[in-house]
Amino acid sequence: MTRTLFAGGSVFDGTGSDPAPADVLVEDGLVVNVGSGFEADDVVDCAGATVLPGLIDSHVHVLFSGINVLRMMQTPFSYPFYEAVHNLRTTLDTGITTVRDASGADLGVAQALRDGLIAGPRMQISISMVSQTGGHGDGWQPCGAVMPLLVPHPGRPSTIVDGAEEMRRVVRELVRAGADVIKVATSGGVLSPRDDPRHGHFRDAEIAVLVEEATAAGLFVMAHAQATDGIKVAIRNGIRSIEHGIYLDDQAIEMMLAAGTWLVPTLSAPRAVLSMADSGVPMPAAVISKARMVLESHDDSVSRAIAAGVKIAMGTDSGVGPHGDNLGELGLMVDLGMTAAQAWRASTASAAELLGIQEEFGTLEPGKRADVLVLEGSTSDLADLRDRVRAVYQDGVLVAGDRSGNPRVQAGN
Ligand SMILES: [Zn+2]
Repeated sequence: MTRTLFAGGSVFDGTGSDPAPADVLVEDGLVVNVGSGFEADDVVDCAGATVLPGLIDSHVHVLFSGINVLRMMQTPFSYPFYEAVHNLRTTLDTGITTVRDASGADLGVAQALRDGLIAGPRMQISISMVSQTGGHGDGWQPCGAVMPLLVPHPGRPSTIVDGAEEMRRVVRELVRAGADVIKVATSGGVLSPRDDPRHGHFRDAEIAVLVEEATAAGLFVMAHAQATDGIKVAIRNGIRSIEHGIYLDDQAIEMMLAAGTWLVPTLSAPRAVLSMADSGVPMPAAVISKARMVLESHDDSVSRAIAAGVKIAMGTDSGVGPHGDNLGELGLMVDLGMTAAQAWRASTASAAELLGIQEEFGTLEPGKRADVLVLEGSTSDLADLRDRVRAVYQDGVLVAGDRSGNPRVQAGN
């Protein structure tokens, strides 16, 4: 039984306390104590660094490597699964030890991770996003061809549904396929060419059945919800988190506060779409104009939600943009009114609570699993975070970076 001590650094324990000088003692993969004066066989020198809980990104797509529909059409079906191996590694190198996959990854990917066949963050999967006909997940193109971003397969059922009874069956299919969380699009979105982010999708009767079936299976629901109506139908029916939340009016914010609904802003997402367009990735004109249209409303909504005290968890939509840039989201949240400590909390304890894993993850406290990030410098400095990741641990085992005390050298990915 090796006792490992993360010694000489500052500790951000995730609970909301300010970082303070302390040592973290780990044994058998668990945090045993946080404080000083501990004996250990193995000492990790954390001088000049901050020791944090492993970070959690509540909205990623590990099977997406940018959204270039022309490229996706020319990519063999199974290729994205191999890209996912690379994307998961890149994400882990960034200090993220847990993710929630917001569609794409299936049970095979999750099981390969859980069995240790591939390295990456722990992962909750939603498999495929439930969408109405003509909704955010519908790959129908104006020429009549159907080009879904995610081709259905035996482990990833088609989830285009209309009506309450079809909804019941599709949620059960997702549960059968191994979903840890159910994702639904209650509004249009940016990347889908034939819908509008300002329109609500699905009616109360449909969403009520979805939540009822998910709850019966012990699962939470996350809603891609951009339109005001789509946000409200989600909150009214007990959906746990609003993803994106682009058109939040004051009533929606009040409803979220009353119901305890979470917001996962994904401020990186529309920016990633616009930077892809700027770099020449071919995109439908409708997609580019929607990305521009939503940007300002999105920032305005999220800043009002922050000011009102809505519960927020960090999520990036990585996969739409590049994997590994996840930590840029913290600076974007701070630009809209969060303190740095709040942004870190949204990326640790709060995200763990959203995912329902707060008993084991999200803070550095006795009894918690020892997922640990050693970050060069102070948490009040949000610049160049990716380059400041020294070392990453899961269950007390080094999984990325090294113990030399130097910031991690970029692997060139
Ligand atoms: Zn997404």
